[in-house]
Amino acid sequence: MDGGGDGVSEPLLAAALGPAVRLEASPTAHRRVVAARQLPPGTAVLRERPLAATAASTASCGRCLATPLQPQVTALRRCSACRAVAYCSVECQRADWAAGHRGACAALRRLAPAAAADASIVNQLLMLAAVVQALESDTDPHPALVGAESPYASLSPDSLRRAQCAAFRSLLSHTADMDALTRTHLSKAISLASGTPALPSAGEALEHLGRFRCNNFEIALPDDLAPVGEATLPLASLFNHSCWPNCVAIFDYPPLDLASAAGLGCLPPCVSIRTIRAVAPGEELCIAYMDAIHHREHRRSLLSSKYSFWCECPRCQAEKREPLVNGFSARDMPLSASEAESFGWSVFQWFKGHLSTACDEYDEMRRNMLAGTDKDPRGREEMAAYTSIAALQHSSRHFGDALDSQSWRPAARFGMHVLGVYLLVYPRFQPIASVHALQVAKALWNAGRAELASELLEIVVTSVRISHGETAGSGMLRESKALLEMAGEELGG
Ligand SMILES: [Zn+2]
Ligand SMILES: [Zn+2]
Ligand SMILES: [Zn+2]
Repeated sequence: MDGGGDGVSEPLLAAALGPAVRLEASPTAHRRVVAARQLPPGTAVLRERPLAATAASTASCGRCLATPLQPQVTALRRCSACRAVAYCSVECQRADWAAGHRGACAALRRLAPAAAADASIVNQLLMLAAVVQALESDTDPHPALVGAESPYASLSPDSLRRAQCAAFRSLLSHTADMDALTRTHLSKAISLASGTPALPSAGEALEHLGRFRCNNFEIALPDDLAPVGEATLPLASLFNHSCWPNCVAIFDYPPLDLASAAGLGCLPPCVSIRTIRAVAPGEELCIAYMDAIHHREHRRSLLSSKYSFWCECPRCQAEKREPLVNGFSARDMPLSASEAESFGWSVFQWFKGHLSTACDEYDEMRRNMLAGTDKDPRGREEMAAYTSIAALQHSSRHFGDALDSQSWRPAARFGMHVLGVYLLVYPRFQPIASVHALQVAKALWNAGRAELASELLEIVVTSVRISHGETAGSGMLRESKALLEMAGEELGG
């Protein structure tokens, strides 16, 4: 903790975090979350409902973040007063009004047209109003949901809410580190909002906005990981960053039947923090704040400007000594479809053969393979070219285009290359690899290659259980199992 000066009650936070983890002072960061016991891969260590959430645009509901692509949504209707937020139902609009939109709406109506057209200013104001409302109310608006949403906490709903609020107030805001542009941008939002009675003083508002900047989560839906909004999750924010994380943050909706039984219609997604590797007692639990596919210098400069820290994680340390370790090459070498496919399948077979290899051993083999220092005949130079960002972008583009035009055969070939790179560059069981593998399996299936599709689908099922879990992964698991069954019938007959 930061010298005990933040006044956070440690027993309250400990009870809110649950029994699998412990919060400690950190020598390098503000504080850190460590494993309280041995945690196997696929352990959910925290589940948290957002203190506040906002949609990325009026293309999703401002309350539950659902889009018209989801079956329960027929149309989105905008708030007639501010026109800045859209809702999927009257229930969502009413709930959001009570949860802070009342204050935001008044502020938004005063915005000059240029500011009202700036989605980031609008979203900051919406988030600010929602958090202020939560901090002031001190009670949980939806106590019926606590068991389902925070199964690990041993607290009453109101105490859990107080723990979230206390954790939020204790988050660092790094307002002094903000660059001039961000500061100007935020000041604009504050000055527009400051006359609104529902919002705090300019000083306090700047602190909150600073906390959003370095702590908020992007909400991505589990089936495709497409971002739909942003959430303030003060307990999940206690987890530090690593470019080689042992945990992932995955979102999913709280059970719809429970929410509707409580008369709440639909709710924003909750986050789960899950381990993707075995974690020893006392080891720090980390998530990645950014896409770990980028090279070291890019990662570090982005983390420093957005989150105000200079990453010294084990991967950043290792790549300082051995810059090629993540395989990025300056050589631009787009792969042909057959090169792309054969590379992808060879990495996939290797991955499949090591599903149950111990994590450290697996990581070392992966590193050696990526660096071209193992027995792979391709060697260092070629491996770097196959896994370069240029080659990856080339294959991703072809994969997307081929899917759009339903050209399944090329889609499967370029998709396999992308999968191969993901399996080498990301930690094992990173959700993005699982989501991508399912898309490739569907392309293979449509290309009439049921046997190869089944190979991928079996791995998708294993990986999704670890990265997403049965709840968040339910859509992908259902789809994979249905395809596997059909493939089994086809191949058997
Ligand atoms: Zn909604
Ligand atoms: Zn409004
Ligand atoms: Zn790092």
